[in-house]
Amino acid sequence: HIPNDTILYLNGVSVSFDGFKAINGLSIVLKEGELRAIIGPNGAGKSTMMDIITGKTRPDVGDVYFKQDIDLTKHDEADIANLGIGRKFQKPSVIETLTVWENLELALAGNRTPWQSLVFKLTNKDKDRLDEMANYINLGDQKNTLAGDISHGQKQWLEIGMLLLQEPEVLLVDEPAAGMTDEETFKTADLLRDVAKSRSVIVVEHDMEFVKALDCKVTVLHEGSVLSEGPLDVVQQDEQVIEVYLGR
Ligand code: ADP
Ligand code: MG
Repeated sequence: HIPNDTILYLNGVSVSFDGFKAINGLSIVLKEGELRAIIGPNGAGKSTMMDIITGKTRPDVGDVYFKQDIDLTKHDEADIANLGIGRKFQKPSVIETLTVWENLELALAGNRTPWQSLVFKLTNKDKDRLDEMANYINLGDQKNTLAGDISHGQKQWLEIGMLLLQEPEVLLVDEPAAGMTDEETFKTADLLRDVAKSRSVIVVEHDMEFVKALDCKVTVLHEGSVLSEGPLDVVQQDEQVIEVYLGR
């Protein structure tokens, strides 16, 4: 029953915390190679939705599938990451006492078993790959700078680069533009649009200028379910969306 170009399939998903329904009959379908923005007021359930996809939170009811046949409710967080679903949390978690390059190197080594990473030596091909990634995330000139000394926005890019080195099929990104300058915000939209050429990307975001720059289908969440879905200019005209955002 799941179309074969589907990469993520959520159907009738609900989850309660102490009797409070944070997610309430949520259904979302993401196609292979799709870029999707998820917006919605605080507490709408955006982060909880990400928690459900990544196995951090188990739904009480509902289907959560990766592709057509992988039931994500039967897998744990580590499994799901290994299946190819990468997640970037809101706060960057780069190692500040290492350089940009060393952080990328660590992410590449992270694909290996503990024993392999102990004896892990970068090949020339690996080095080229790290160079390419540094350039790709706009940090080509900062390779030898400590991650603690780059801007907040650059840390977000570094973390996206680290995730991309793991070659996820789906990338989930929670509020990447928070705390970014306008220039960084637009560069991030460009970056994520390019990432979505080779994989599927879900971006949770508040910044409407950023969402506009992503130029993709938008899903509006409210009280744990989908309130509206479509192009940004269409959902922005939706009476229910206007009501929720203006708090009438
Ligand atoms: P958003 O990311 O859209 O701001 P969240 O998914 O973080 O919203 O939260 C949705 C609702 O669920 C909120 O009311 C929040 O307080 C509640 N919630 C989320 N996680 C938990 C938890 N672990 N325990 C209790 N309540 C939670
Ligand atoms: Mg959130």
